[in-house]
Amino acid sequence: MKYDFLIVGSGLTGAIIAHEARKRNKRVLVIEKRSHIGGNIYTENIKNIPVHVYGAHIFHTNDKRAWDYINNFSEFNRFTNSPVANYNGEIYSLPFNMYTFNKIWGVTTPAQAREKIEEQKKSSGITNPSNLEEQAISLVGRDIYEILIKGYTEKQWGRPCSELPAFIIKRLPVRFTYDNNYFNARYQGIPVNGYTEIINKMLEGVEVKTNCDFMTAKHEFESLAEKIFYTGAIDEYFNYSLGTLEYRTLKFEQKIFDELDNFQGNAVMNFTDSKTPYTREIEHKHFYPGLETRGTVVTREYSSKWSRGDEPYYPVNDSKNNSLYEKYKALADSQCPNVIFCGRLGEYKYYDMDAIVLKAMYNVEYIV
Ligand code: FAD
Ligand code: UDP
Repeated sequence: MKYDFLIVGSGLTGAIIAHEARKRNKRVLVIEKRSHIGGNIYTENIKNIPVHVYGAHIFHTNDKRAWDYINNFSEFNRFTNSPVANYNGEIYSLPFNMYTFNKIWGVTTPAQAREKIEEQKKSSGITNPSNLEEQAISLVGRDIYEILIKGYTEKQWGRPCSELPAFIIKRLPVRFTYDNNYFNARYQGIPVNGYTEIINKMLEGVEVKTNCDFMTAKHEFESLAEKIFYTGAIDEYFNYSLGTLEYRTLKFEQKIFDELDNFQGNAVMNFTDSKTPYTREIEHKHFYPGLETRGTVVTREYSSKWSRGDEPYYPVNDSKNNSLYEKYKALADSQCPNVIFCGRLGEYKYYDMDAIVLKAMYNVEYIV
Protein backbone atom coordinates (compact mmCIF):
# COMPACT_ATOMS: atom_id res chain seq x y z
CA MET A 1 0.00 0.00 0.00
CA LYS A 2 1.11 3.52 -0.75
CA TYR A 3 0.69 4.91 2.80
CA ASP A 4 0.93 3.64 6.35
CA PHE A 5 -1.80 6.02 7.44
CA LEU A 6 -4.64 7.83 5.75
CA ILE A 7 -5.98 10.61 7.95
CA VAL A 8 -9.44 11.85 7.14
CA GLY A 9 -9.84 15.42 8.40
CA SER A 10 -7.23 18.10 9.10
CA GLY A 11 -8.64 19.41 12.39
CA LEU A 12 -6.66 19.29 15.62
CA THR A 13 -7.04 15.50 15.92
CA GLY A 14 -5.93 14.74 12.37
CA ALA A 15 -3.08 17.28 12.47
CA ILE A 16 -1.56 15.90 15.70
CA ILE A 17 -1.71 12.31 14.48
CA ALA A 18 -0.24 13.27 11.10
CA HIS A 19 2.55 15.23 12.76
CA GLU A 20 3.51 12.45 15.12
CA ALA A 21 3.31 9.79 12.43
CA ARG A 22 5.56 11.78 10.13
CA LYS A 23 8.03 12.30 12.97
CA ARG A 24 8.17 8.50 13.20
CA ASN A 25 8.94 8.29 9.46
CA LYS A 26 5.54 6.87 8.54
CA ARG A 27 4.03 7.50 5.14
CA VAL A 28 1.00 9.72 5.71
CA LEU A 29 -1.75 11.26 3.60
CA VAL A 30 -4.25 13.75 5.04
CA ILE A 31 -7.45 14.46 3.15
CA GLU A 32 -9.78 17.32 4.03
CA LYS A 33 -13.16 18.07 2.51
CA ARG A 34 -13.08 21.79 3.27
CA SER A 35 -10.99 24.16 1.17
CA HIS A 36 -8.62 24.75 4.10
CA ILE A 37 -6.91 22.88 6.92
CA GLY A 38 -7.60 23.28 10.66
CA GLY A 39 -11.16 22.03 11.12
CA ASN A 40 -13.14 24.12 13.57
CA ILE A 41 -10.11 25.82 15.11
CA TYR A 42 -9.25 27.49 11.79
CA THR A 43 -8.44 31.20 12.12
CA GLU A 44 -8.11 33.69 9.30
CA ASN A 45 -6.41 37.08 9.43
CA ILE A 46 -8.80 39.97 8.80
CA LYS A 47 -7.62 43.50 9.53
CA ASN A 48 -4.57 41.93 11.17
CA ILE A 49 -6.79 40.10 13.67
CA PRO A 50 -6.72 36.28 13.76
CA VAL A 51 -10.47 35.74 13.43
CA HIS A 52 -11.98 32.52 14.85
CA VAL A 53 -13.98 31.53 11.78
CA TYR A 54 -15.93 28.67 13.40
CA GLY A 55 -16.65 30.19 16.81
CA ALA A 56 -14.58 31.37 19.76
CA HIS A 57 -11.82 28.95 20.77
CA ILE A 58 -10.01 29.38 24.08
CA PHE A 59 -7.49 26.75 25.02
CA HIS A 60 -7.90 25.84 28.69
CA THR A 61 -6.72 22.83 30.63
CA ASN A 62 -5.61 21.46 33.97
CA ASP A 63 -3.40 18.94 32.26
CA LYS A 64 0.24 19.98 31.98
CA ARG A 65 0.95 17.44 29.22
CA ALA A 66 -1.77 18.92 26.99
CA TRP A 67 -0.59 22.47 27.71
CA ASP A 68 3.10 21.69 27.11
CA TYR A 69 2.28 19.81 23.92
CA ILE A 70 0.26 22.61 22.31
CA ASN A 71 2.84 25.19 23.41
CA ASN A 72 5.42 23.41 21.23
CA PHE A 73 3.65 24.88 18.23
CA SER A 74 2.99 28.48 19.27
CA GLU A 75 3.40 31.07 21.94
CA PHE A 76 0.13 31.55 23.83
CA ASN A 77 -1.12 34.86 25.17
CA ARG A 78 -2.59 35.48 28.63
CA PHE A 79 -6.22 35.77 27.50
CA THR A 80 -8.64 34.81 30.27
CA ASN A 81 -12.18 34.19 29.16
CA SER A 82 -14.68 36.36 31.05
CA PRO A 83 -17.81 36.55 28.94
CA VAL A 84 -20.67 38.81 29.92
CA ALA A 85 -24.35 37.99 29.62
CA ASN A 86 -26.75 40.44 28.04
CA TYR A 87 -30.33 39.84 29.15
CA ASN A 88 -32.71 42.35 27.58
CA GLY A 89 -30.02 45.04 27.71
CA GLU A 90 -28.90 44.35 31.29
CA ILE A 91 -25.34 43.10 31.73
CA TYR A 92 -24.48 40.24 34.13
CA SER A 93 -21.18 38.58 35.04
CA LEU A 94 -20.34 35.03 34.01
CA PRO A 95 -19.71 32.40 35.13
CA PHE A 96 -22.08 32.60 38.07
CA ASN A 97 -20.14 34.35 40.84
CA MET A 98 -20.49 36.99 43.54
CA TYR A 99 -20.82 39.81 40.96
CA THR A 100 -23.76 37.93 39.41
CA PHE A 101 -25.39 37.25 42.80
CA ASN A 102 -24.95 40.89 43.79
CA LYS A 103 -26.54 42.16 40.57
CA ILE A 104 -29.50 39.80 40.82
CA TRP A 105 -30.21 39.77 44.56
CA GLY A 106 -28.21 42.68 45.99
CA VAL A 107 -26.33 40.28 48.29
CA THR A 108 -22.70 41.07 49.15
CA THR A 109 -21.42 38.00 51.03
CA PRO A 110 -21.05 34.33 50.03
CA ALA A 111 -23.23 33.31 53.00
CA GLN A 112 -26.09 35.52 51.78
CA ALA A 113 -25.74 34.17 48.25
CA ARG A 114 -25.78 30.55 49.44
CA GLU A 115 -28.84 31.29 51.55
CA LYS A 116 -30.70 32.74 48.52
CA ILE A 117 -29.83 29.72 46.35
CA GLU A 118 -30.81 27.29 49.10
CA GLU A 119 -34.14 29.11 49.59
CA GLN A 120 -34.96 28.92 45.84
CA LYS A 121 -33.82 25.32 45.58
CA LYS A 122 -35.99 24.36 48.56
CA SER A 123 -39.10 26.05 47.19
CA SER A 124 -38.66 24.23 43.85
CA GLY A 125 -38.83 20.88 45.68
CA ILE A 126 -35.99 19.33 43.63
CA THR A 127 -33.98 16.72 45.50
CA ASN A 128 -32.54 14.55 42.79
CA PRO A 129 -32.05 16.61 39.57
CA SER A 130 -32.76 14.53 36.50
CA ASN A 131 -32.55 17.08 33.69
CA LEU A 132 -30.83 20.37 32.87
CA GLU A 133 -33.60 22.57 34.29
CA GLU A 134 -33.58 20.78 37.64
CA GLN A 135 -29.81 20.68 37.72
CA ALA A 136 -29.57 24.43 37.03
CA ILE A 137 -32.14 25.37 39.69
CA SER A 138 -30.37 23.17 42.24
CA LEU A 139 -27.05 24.80 41.44
CA VAL A 140 -27.96 28.49 41.26
CA GLY A 141 -31.66 28.92 42.03
CA ARG A 142 -34.64 29.83 39.88
CA ASP A 143 -33.83 33.54 39.24
CA ILE A 144 -30.46 32.83 37.64
CA TYR A 145 -31.93 29.90 35.76
CA GLU A 146 -34.60 32.18 34.25
CA ILE A 147 -32.26 35.10 33.45
CA LEU A 148 -28.99 33.47 32.44
CA ILE A 149 -29.64 29.85 31.52
CA LYS A 150 -33.09 29.08 30.15
CA GLY A 151 -33.16 31.36 27.07
CA TYR A 152 -29.55 30.74 26.08
CA THR A 153 -29.72 26.98 26.51
CA GLU A 154 -33.00 26.58 24.65
CA LYS A 155 -31.64 28.61 21.71
CA GLN A 156 -28.39 26.66 21.77
CA TRP A 157 -29.92 23.18 21.94
CA GLY A 158 -33.35 23.79 20.35
CA ARG A 159 -35.42 22.08 23.01
CA PRO A 160 -36.76 22.76 26.52
CA CYS A 161 -34.25 22.58 29.38
CA SER A 162 -36.49 20.00 31.02
CA GLU A 163 -35.69 17.64 28.12
CA LEU A 164 -31.92 18.17 28.11
CA PRO A 165 -29.28 16.14 29.96
CA ALA A 166 -27.93 17.77 33.13
CA PHE A 167 -24.27 17.29 32.20
CA ILE A 168 -24.34 20.21 29.72
CA ILE A 169 -24.66 22.76 32.52
CA LYS A 170 -22.13 21.01 34.75
CA ARG A 171 -19.46 22.49 32.51
CA LEU A 172 -20.19 25.93 33.97
CA PRO A 173 -18.56 26.82 37.30
CA VAL A 174 -20.49 28.38 40.20
CA ARG A 175 -18.27 30.47 42.47
CA PHE A 176 -18.78 32.24 45.73
CA THR A 177 -15.91 34.63 45.01
CA TYR A 178 -15.63 37.79 42.89
CA ASP A 179 -14.01 35.97 39.99
CA ASN A 180 -15.12 36.35 36.36
CA ASN A 181 -12.69 33.79 34.95
CA TYR A 182 -15.00 31.45 33.01
CA PHE A 183 -12.83 28.36 33.29
CA ASN A 184 -11.55 26.57 36.38
CA ALA A 185 -8.34 25.86 34.52
CA ARG A 186 -4.73 25.99 35.59
CA TYR A 187 -3.60 26.93 32.07
CA GLN A 188 -5.44 29.17 29.61
CA GLY A 189 -4.71 31.28 26.54
CA ILE A 190 -4.93 31.78 22.81
CA PRO A 191 -2.08 31.32 20.30
CA VAL A 192 -0.70 34.79 19.59
CA ASN A 193 -1.03 34.40 15.81
CA GLY A 194 -4.20 32.28 15.83
CA TYR A 195 -4.70 28.52 15.51
CA THR A 196 -4.04 28.08 11.79
CA GLU A 197 -0.32 28.64 12.38
CA ILE A 198 -0.34 25.69 14.81
CA ILE A 199 -2.00 23.39 12.28
CA ASN A 200 0.37 24.57 9.53
CA LYS A 201 3.33 23.70 11.74
CA MET A 202 1.90 20.31 12.62
CA LEU A 203 1.34 19.50 8.96
CA GLU A 204 4.75 20.69 7.75
CA GLY A 205 6.16 18.03 5.42
CA VAL A 206 2.90 16.04 5.38
CA GLU A 207 1.04 15.39 2.11
CA VAL A 208 -2.36 17.11 2.41
CA LYS A 209 -5.22 17.24 -0.06
CA THR A 210 -7.97 19.81 0.57
CA ASN A 211 -11.37 19.86 -1.19
CA CYS A 212 -11.19 16.09 -0.95
CA ASP A 213 -14.16 14.25 0.57
CA PHE A 214 -13.50 10.68 1.73
CA MET A 215 -17.15 9.73 1.18
CA THR A 216 -16.99 10.46 -2.55
CA ALA A 217 -14.50 7.61 -3.16
CA LYS A 218 -14.54 5.59 0.04
CA HIS A 219 -13.27 2.28 -1.35
CA GLU A 220 -10.53 3.90 -3.36
CA PHE A 221 -9.24 5.77 -0.32
CA GLU A 222 -9.48 2.66 1.83
CA SER A 223 -7.18 0.82 -0.52
CA LEU A 224 -4.45 3.44 -0.13
CA ALA A 225 -3.35 2.83 3.45
CA GLU A 226 -2.83 0.14 6.08
CA LYS A 227 -4.72 2.12 8.67
CA ILE A 228 -7.17 5.01 8.59
CA PHE A 229 -7.74 7.64 11.24
CA TYR A 230 -11.22 8.91 10.51
CA THR A 231 -12.20 12.21 12.17
CA GLY A 232 -15.46 12.79 10.27
CA ALA A 233 -18.92 11.83 11.55
CA ILE A 234 -19.20 8.12 12.35
CA ASP A 235 -22.81 7.84 11.12
CA GLU A 236 -21.86 9.40 7.78
CA TYR A 237 -19.03 6.84 7.38
CA PHE A 238 -21.68 4.09 7.48
CA ASN A 239 -24.04 6.01 5.18
CA TYR A 240 -26.43 6.49 8.12
CA SER A 241 -27.36 2.82 7.85
CA LEU A 242 -28.43 2.53 11.51
CA GLY A 243 -30.06 5.96 11.63
CA THR A 244 -28.92 9.55 11.93
CA LEU A 245 -27.17 10.93 14.98
CA GLU A 246 -28.36 14.36 16.03
CA TYR A 247 -26.08 17.41 15.89
CA ARG A 248 -26.49 21.15 16.26
CA THR A 249 -25.26 23.31 13.45
CA LEU A 250 -24.22 26.97 13.61
CA LYS A 251 -24.50 29.93 11.31
CA PHE A 252 -21.89 32.65 11.64
CA GLU A 253 -22.71 36.21 10.59
CA GLN A 254 -19.58 38.32 10.30
CA LYS A 255 -19.37 42.11 10.28
CA ILE A 256 -16.21 44.08 9.55
CA PHE A 257 -16.04 47.64 10.87
CA ASP A 258 -13.45 49.94 9.31
CA GLU A 259 -13.92 52.99 11.50
CA LEU A 260 -15.14 51.55 14.81
CA ASP A 261 -12.29 50.28 17.04
CA ASN A 262 -14.25 48.79 19.92
CA PHE A 263 -17.73 47.38 19.29
CA GLN A 264 -18.76 45.75 22.58
CA GLY A 265 -15.84 46.11 25.02
CA ASN A 266 -15.40 42.37 25.49
CA ALA A 267 -14.48 39.28 23.45
CA VAL A 268 -17.66 37.31 24.20
CA MET A 269 -21.18 38.56 24.89
CA ASN A 270 -23.86 35.92 25.49
CA PHE A 271 -27.46 36.89 24.74
CA THR A 272 -29.41 34.97 27.34
CA ASP A 273 -32.95 36.17 26.55
CA SER A 274 -35.16 34.14 24.26
CA LYS A 275 -36.08 37.01 21.87
CA THR A 276 -32.61 37.71 20.45
CA PRO A 277 -32.21 35.08 17.72
CA TYR A 278 -28.47 34.59 18.14
CA THR A 279 -26.70 33.08 21.16
CA ARG A 280 -23.50 35.10 21.30
CA GLU A 281 -21.53 37.87 19.72
CA ILE A 282 -17.74 37.60 19.45
CA GLU A 283 -15.43 40.60 19.00
CA HIS A 284 -12.21 38.92 17.90
CA LYS A 285 -9.62 41.60 18.66
CA HIS A 286 -10.30 41.29 22.39
CA PHE A 287 -8.91 37.75 22.30
CA TYR A 288 -5.48 39.31 21.82
CA PRO A 289 -4.71 41.63 24.74
CA GLY A 290 -2.55 44.53 23.59
CA LEU A 291 -3.27 44.04 19.88
CA GLU A 292 -3.74 47.44 18.30
CA THR A 293 -5.57 47.51 15.00
CA ARG A 294 -7.71 49.94 13.08
CA GLY A 295 -11.29 48.65 12.87
CA THR A 296 -12.78 45.53 14.38
CA VAL A 297 -14.43 42.23 13.39
CA VAL A 298 -17.57 40.91 15.06
CA THR A 299 -19.33 37.57 14.58
CA ARG A 300 -22.84 36.63 15.61
CA GLU A 301 -23.49 32.95 16.27
CA TYR A 302 -26.87 31.35 15.50
CA SER A 303 -27.59 27.77 16.53
CA SER A 304 -30.04 25.55 14.68
CA LYS A 305 -31.17 22.01 13.98
CA TRP A 306 -28.73 20.07 11.83
CA SER A 307 -29.80 18.28 8.63
CA ARG A 308 -27.64 16.20 6.32
CA GLY A 309 -25.37 18.48 4.33
CA ASP A 310 -24.98 21.02 7.17
CA GLU A 311 -21.79 21.23 9.24
CA PRO A 312 -22.20 19.15 12.41
CA TYR A 313 -20.73 21.32 15.20
CA TYR A 314 -22.12 19.91 18.43
CA PRO A 315 -23.07 16.27 19.13
CA VAL A 316 -26.33 16.10 21.09
CA ASN A 317 -25.23 13.62 23.76
CA ASP A 318 -28.60 12.58 25.19
CA SER A 319 -29.37 8.94 25.94
CA LYS A 320 -31.10 8.27 22.62
CA ASN A 321 -28.16 9.52 20.56
CA ASN A 322 -25.56 7.95 22.84
CA SER A 323 -27.15 4.54 22.45
CA LEU A 324 -27.27 4.93 18.65
CA TYR A 325 -23.61 5.93 18.76
CA GLU A 326 -22.82 2.74 20.72
CA LYS A 327 -24.41 0.72 17.89
CA TYR A 328 -22.23 2.48 15.33
CA LYS A 329 -19.21 1.89 17.56
CA ALA A 330 -19.99 -1.85 17.71
CA LEU A 331 -20.37 -1.91 13.93
CA ALA A 332 -17.03 -0.15 13.55
CA ASP A 333 -15.30 -2.57 15.93
CA SER A 334 -16.66 -5.62 14.15
CA GLN A 335 -16.41 -4.49 10.52
CA CYS A 336 -13.56 -2.00 10.33
CA PRO A 337 -10.55 -3.18 12.36
CA ASN A 338 -8.27 -0.91 10.33
CA VAL A 339 -10.23 2.27 10.88
CA ILE A 340 -9.79 4.30 14.06
CA PHE A 341 -12.71 6.64 14.61
CA CYS A 342 -11.51 9.65 16.56
CA GLY A 343 -12.11 13.31 17.36
CA ARG A 344 -15.32 15.13 18.20
CA LEU A 345 -17.25 13.66 15.27
CA GLY A 346 -15.63 10.23 15.05
CA GLU A 347 -16.33 9.56 18.75
CA TYR A 348 -19.49 11.69 18.94
CA LYS A 349 -18.28 13.44 22.11
CA TYR A 350 -18.38 17.04 23.30
CA TYR A 351 -14.54 17.17 23.53
CA ASP A 352 -12.67 20.39 24.26
CA MET A 353 -9.32 20.95 22.59
CA ASP A 354 -7.26 19.75 25.56
CA ALA A 355 -9.16 16.44 25.59
CA ILE A 356 -8.54 16.19 21.85
CA VAL A 357 -4.79 16.65 22.39
CA LEU A 358 -4.69 13.97 25.09
CA LYS A 359 -6.76 11.50 23.08
CA ALA A 360 -4.62 12.05 19.97
CA MET A 361 -1.45 11.51 22.05
CA TYR A 362 -2.97 8.26 23.33
CA ASN A 363 -3.75 7.08 19.80
CA VAL A 364 -0.23 7.94 18.71
CA GLU A 365 1.30 6.03 21.60
CA TYR A 366 -0.72 2.88 21.01
CA ILE A 367 -1.27 2.82 17.26
CA VAL A 368 1.26 4.91 15.32
P1 FAD B 1 -12.88 19.06 13.66
O1 FAD B 1 -12.20 20.34 13.97
O2 FAD B 1 -14.34 19.08 13.41
O3 FAD B 1 -12.13 18.43 12.40
C1 FAD B 1 -12.67 17.41 11.61
C2 FAD B 1 -12.26 17.69 10.17
O4 FAD B 1 -12.63 16.57 9.36
C3 FAD B 1 -12.96 18.90 9.58
O5 FAD B 1 -12.01 19.77 9.03
C4 FAD B 1 -13.88 18.31 8.52
O6 FAD B 1 -14.06 19.17 7.42
C5 FAD B 1 -13.11 17.07 8.13
N1 FAD B 1 -13.97 16.02 7.55
C6 FAD B 1 -15.14 15.55 8.03
N2 FAD B 1 -15.63 14.61 7.21
C7 FAD B 1 -14.74 14.47 6.20
C8 FAD B 1 -14.72 13.66 5.02
N3 FAD B 1 -15.71 12.82 4.72
N4 FAD B 1 -13.66 13.78 4.18
C9 FAD B 1 -12.65 14.67 4.44
N5 FAD B 1 -12.65 15.46 5.54
C10 FAD B 1 -13.67 15.37 6.40
N6 FAD B 1 -12.78 23.69 22.60
C11 FAD B 1 -12.03 24.30 23.53
O7 FAD B 1 -11.14 23.69 24.13
N7 FAD B 1 -12.24 25.62 23.85
C12 FAD B 1 -13.19 26.38 23.24
O8 FAD B 1 -13.34 27.56 23.56
C13 FAD B 1 -14.01 25.74 22.26
N8 FAD B 1 -14.96 26.44 21.63
C14 FAD B 1 -15.72 25.83 20.68
C15 FAD B 1 -16.69 26.59 20.02
C16 FAD B 1 -17.44 26.01 19.02
C17 FAD B 1 -18.48 26.83 18.32
C18 FAD B 1 -17.25 24.64 18.68
C19 FAD B 1 -18.09 23.99 17.62
C20 FAD B 1 -16.30 23.88 19.32
C21 FAD B 1 -15.52 24.47 20.33
N9 FAD B 1 -14.51 23.76 20.97
C22 FAD B 1 -13.75 24.38 21.94
C23 FAD B 1 -14.20 22.34 20.62
C24 FAD B 1 -13.12 22.23 19.53
O9 FAD B 1 -13.59 22.85 18.34
C25 FAD B 1 -12.83 20.76 19.28
O10 FAD B 1 -12.38 20.14 20.46
C26 FAD B 1 -11.79 20.48 18.17
O11 FAD B 1 -11.80 21.41 17.15
C27 FAD B 1 -12.06 19.10 17.61
O12 FAD B 1 -11.11 18.76 16.65
P2 FAD B 1 -11.37 17.54 15.66
O13 FAD B 1 -10.16 17.42 14.82
O14 FAD B 1 -11.82 16.36 16.41
O15 FAD B 1 -12.64 17.97 14.80
N1 UDP C 1 -24.96 28.30 29.21
C1 UDP C 1 -25.99 29.09 29.65
N2 UDP C 1 -25.84 30.45 29.66
C2 UDP C 1 -24.70 31.04 29.26
C3 UDP C 1 -23.64 30.23 28.83
C4 UDP C 1 -23.80 28.86 28.80
O1 UDP C 1 -27.04 28.59 30.00
O2 UDP C 1 -24.62 32.28 29.28
C5 UDP C 1 -25.17 26.83 29.19
C6 UDP C 1 -25.65 26.34 27.82
O3 UDP C 1 -26.54 25.27 28.03
C7 UDP C 1 -24.39 25.86 27.16
C8 UDP C 1 -23.65 25.26 28.35
O4 UDP C 1 -23.96 26.15 29.45
O5 UDP C 1 -24.65 24.90 26.17
C9 UDP C 1 -22.15 25.15 28.19
O6 UDP C 1 -21.64 26.44 27.91
P1 UDP C 1 -20.24 26.65 27.22
O7 UDP C 1 -19.94 28.11 27.21
O8 UDP C 1 -19.27 25.73 27.86
O9 UDP C 1 -20.58 26.15 25.76
P2 UDP C 1 -19.73 26.04 24.41
O10 UDP C 1 -18.64 27.06 24.47
O11 UDP C 1 -19.24 24.64 24.36
O12 UDP C 1 -20.74 26.35 23.38
